Amino acid sequence: MKNAIVIGAGIGGLAAALRLRHQGFSVTVFEKNEYAGGKLHAIEQDGYRFDLGPSLFTLPHLVESLLALFPEEKIDFSYKSKEIAFHYFWEDGTCFKASTDSSKFVVDASKVFNEEKSTIKKYLSKSKSKYELTRSLFLEKSLHKAATYLSLDTIKAIVNAPFLGLNNTLNDENSKFKNSKLTQLFNRYATYNGSSPYQTPGIMTMIPHLELGLGTYYPDGGMHRISQSLFELAQKVGVEFRFRESVTKITTSKNKVTGVETENNALRSDLVVSNMDIVPTYRNLMKDVPAPEKTLSQERSSSALIFYWGIDREFPELDLHNILFSENYQAEFQDIFENKTLYSDPTVYINITSKESKEDAPAGHENWFVMINAPGDYGQDWEQLIQESKKQIIIKIKKCLHVDITEHIKTEYILTPQGIEKNTSSYRGALYGAASNNKFAAFLRHPNFNGKIKNLYHVGGSVHPGGGIPLCLLSAQITADLIQRKQ
Ligand SMILES: Cc1cc2nc3c(=O)[nH]c(=O)nc-3n(C[C@H](O)[C@H](O)[C@H](O)COP(=O)(O)OP(=O)(O)OC[C@H]3O[C@@H](n4cnc5c(N)ncnc54)[C@H](O)[C@@H]3O)c2cc1C
Repeated sequence: MKNAIVIGAGIGGLAAALRLRHQGFSVTVFEKNEYAGGKLHAIEQDGYRFDLGPSLFTLPHLVESLLALFPEEKIDFSYKSKEIAFHYFWEDGTCFKASTDSSKFVVDASKVFNEEKSTIKKYLSKSKSKYELTRSLFLEKSLHKAATYLSLDTIKAIVNAPFLGLNNTLNDENSKFKNSKLTQLFNRYATYNGSSPYQTPGIMTMIPHLELGLGTYYPDGGMHRISQSLFELAQKVGVEFRFRESVTKITTSKNKVTGVETENNALRSDLVVSNMDIVPTYRNLMKDVPAPEKTLSQERSSSALIFYWGIDREFPELDLHNILFSENYQAEFQDIFENKTLYSDPTVYINITSKESKEDAPAGHENWFVMINAPGDYGQDWEQLIQESKKQIIIKIKKCLHVDITEHIKTEYILTPQGIEKNTSSYRGALYGAASNNKFAAFLRHPNFNGKIKNLYHVGGSVHPGGGIPLCLLSAQITADLIQRKQ
């Protein structure tokens, strides 16, 4: 049996391990932490459970397709679909519940934002068409293999290039709405890949289709169940996990991978898949190999500052996902991407899993995951930024929800971009690898194979097709297809 080594047990590494095991490889996963899941991890503190990383679950079939690889193994994984995607709040008292039923969204949004139904309907249908036209090319295949460009899907996408909106920005596309609040609402989707709506291309108007067309979901037991289900399955089917064992070098001979070195061991392997962020993979594990500097110097995506708060009361006006918008979105993104600091009036995201899983907080309490978008770690004074931001967040909550939350915070845990990098080796603590702040970004992401070293592959949020759970799962699928074709 051929053997494979996977470096890292993030969602991309777990998915790659399962797919290679399914192809008949003997698979060993090295993970520097003592747990599997990477950013998809959770903690418990003072009776509250918190998912530490992702909170929004879309395209659940990508998880199901992994579980379906081994139908004889029964894994406890279920989820429910959400009728309301987000509750949105503005300081002037405007509140909007975004339905995942697009017809209802159109009617409700038209009422709240005083916008023509036909304009909103047209926008959503364009979002769907863009998604369907580009999905296969940008998300499901390697962009770095000639065969991709010979497919019918590619030809269709190229013919429709002007319609896709590659030459303007997401904000340009969204400024067609009369009401600036609706523009802001749709601009927010740039953050789904850690980019700025004022720089990311107009093609990103396809992202709302993921949520408003294909739906949002909540895994029973919380987001952590996604990584834990895959981990449980991997163990059941014989993937070996070596926790607290950092890979320190990818070894090669004559431009072909031979295995890895860890702090204590050297292991041989027929192929290696790195789930470590692509920047430290080159800088730390492949010091002898010339790095693709243009790719590695791509601007990083945004990061986040997160306060996990145990709250001693309930808020019926809030749902699982809630957004309290900044009064000046453009200034906020300028601070994040250009000034590399936190804006004084941040957009606040509050995720409350106890709305769905009562056991996540004591009775009558809620577990708040309070996140603001942040620049990556460029050596800022995070202690000071934490203090200032906490004050600003509390002010925002007071203005939108009319409550001083300070007296209700019973426990607190904080994660900064520095902490995210420390926990997962994500360069500068980026949530999604490179940002998509220009129209070439998709093509500049590192491929899933290594062009210089044979039998070395790359999966996860820092490589093609991008960050976020669905794209990380797709990176493993593309990689497994590439490997299978070579066997
Ligand atoms: C706060 C936050 C909110 C987010 N929100 C969402 C969301 O709502 N929806 C969504 O879809 N996505 C979201 N994301 C993004 C999503 O979490 C990531 O894109 C995805 O989880 C990244 O997975 P990955 O496979 O790239 O690896 P990671 O999760 O980064 O894991 C990499 C693993 O490799 C290990 N490792 C690194 N170096 C080594 C080494 N040398 N040896 C051994 N092991 C090593 C690390 O310890 C880690 O376990 C969010 C992320 C964060 C942090």
